[in-house]
Amino acid sequence: MLSRRLFIAAAPLVVIGAPGILRAQSVFRTFPFALGIASGDPSQDGFVIWTRLAPDPLELHGGMAMTPMDVEWEVASDDRFATIVAKGTTVARPEVAHSVHVEVAGLQANRPYWYRFTAGGERSFSGRARTLPAAGAAMDKLKFGVVGCQNYEDGFFGAYNHLAREELDFVFHYGDYIYEWRGSPSSASYFTGRLQVPVRQHAGQLLYDLADYRQRYAQYKTDTDLQRAHAAHSFYPTFDDHEIDNNWVAGISGSGSPAEMFELRRAAALQAWYEHMPVRRANMPRFGTGTFHRTARFGNLAEIQLLDTRSYRSDQACDDGFKPLCEGVHDKTAQVLGAEQEAWLAKNLSSNQARWNCLGQQIMMMSLDRRRAANEDTRIANMDSWAAYEVPRQRMLGRMAGLGNVIVLTGDEHQNFVGDLVHRDKVVGTEIVSTSISSGGDGSDLRYGSEQMMKNNPELKFLNDQRGYVVCEVTPDAWLSHFQVVDQVSTRSNTMKRRATAEVAHGIPGAKMTGLSV
Ligand code: FE
Ligand code: CA
Repeated sequence: MLSRRLFIAAAPLVVIGAPGILRAQSVFRTFPFALGIASGDPSQDGFVIWTRLAPDPLELHGGMAMTPMDVEWEVASDDRFATIVAKGTTVARPEVAHSVHVEVAGLQANRPYWYRFTAGGERSFSGRARTLPAAGAAMDKLKFGVVGCQNYEDGFFGAYNHLAREELDFVFHYGDYIYEWRGSPSSASYFTGRLQVPVRQHAGQLLYDLADYRQRYAQYKTDTDLQRAHAAHSFYPTFDDHEIDNNWVAGISGSGSPAEMFELRRAAALQAWYEHMPVRRANMPRFGTGTFHRTARFGNLAEIQLLDTRSYRSDQACDDGFKPLCEGVHDKTAQVLGAEQEAWLAKNLSSNQARWNCLGQQIMMMSLDRRRAANEDTRIANMDSWAAYEVPRQRMLGRMAGLGNVIVLTGDEHQNFVGDLVHRDKVVGTEIVSTSISSGGDGSDLRYGSEQMMKNNPELKFLNDQRGYVVCEVTPDAWLSHFQVVDQVSTRSNTMKRRATAEVAHGIPGAKMTGLSV
């Protein structure tokens, strides 16, 4: 017997839909939210919620008919969706691979919300997003994740499963969300040249056109550990090189495409990046260009400038690679951020009232001697890092001098590093280099020659070659960066531990390592 009370209680389910009821009316053969959902670019009153309809992720157009389709979205103040605080209908358009980017606004500051989508009679799983504190609000604690470099072939994304279980305000992604390489059942190890067997394979060939990049994002986004991390936290996505082409800068391909051809490739790659990231319309690229640098403000406690170190950079000195320093390293006209972004950054650094200044960026800012053997005579530098752009690097460090509290967050290296940023023999900041989610494979505590690197670079405080991510825990007095590493990425599930913590006291640039464990 169905009591009237129960019937009423059940009635809303017909409207908002229980999965079973919805599925009976589905227009899809398979689950259309196979790429997951995501939230990103939180502000004090909202965030972006994202999904892409792709019932057959690896098929052309994700298996969608090339017609627009309505997608309903809901944001609730509780995880059961008892209280819906915002909802609407948006359109998934074939022009953008049936992705949707809803900029939710008008919410309360500094609290979690839950969101989900409905389309064609099917309901997505739900995700959690978090708004930022009000501008200038007195905050005594910020905790966020730093992630990136997730080569699908190099390892499983188990680290993301751990990240999903952390209590975080948001996650900063430093790029290399995808890798453009072709799929291959075997390859030669980058370090040893020996046979290497990928744990899983990229679908398709080297990426060139829009369909290629879309398929690659779709493949990565079918990873359920990655989906879990997106469903748990709001991300601030940025990009590095592999979203487009290894070591590209501005209009220059890192792999030899002629300039006018590379422009087409970059436009396709950036469109696909936008289609798959929970970012705002303001950061939508148009024909390969756009504005991607922006600021995350966490009350009065911290400001993070999210930088774009690829789009405006001048060509790598010394013809790129790991090389002895050549004359080009001291080129006075060289640019890393480009004049406009650099002026924007200078203004933000000097004018903001936040307790901590942070740069969220991609390439290493320390100028390290990369020699790993004692018998090499000539200093080696990474030309695809700030080290090959000495004039803009010194300008940058000069701006940090006197601020006394700058933390630089970096990716790209596929290793953990902590080091001092030194300007005219004075420590002006601390660089925290976060490892990779999977790129480089299992790794080990120390890569060969690490002792030599520590010896050659007195500014280095910590080196580690395991996979994982960094968690930053910020209070008015201290900035802690915890190095969370996993034992292996060659298996789907793994064990995580805190390898070490870098501690920076406010007003005293330079890190102290604590909690070291091997
Ligand atoms: Fe990478
Ligand atoms: Ca990179």
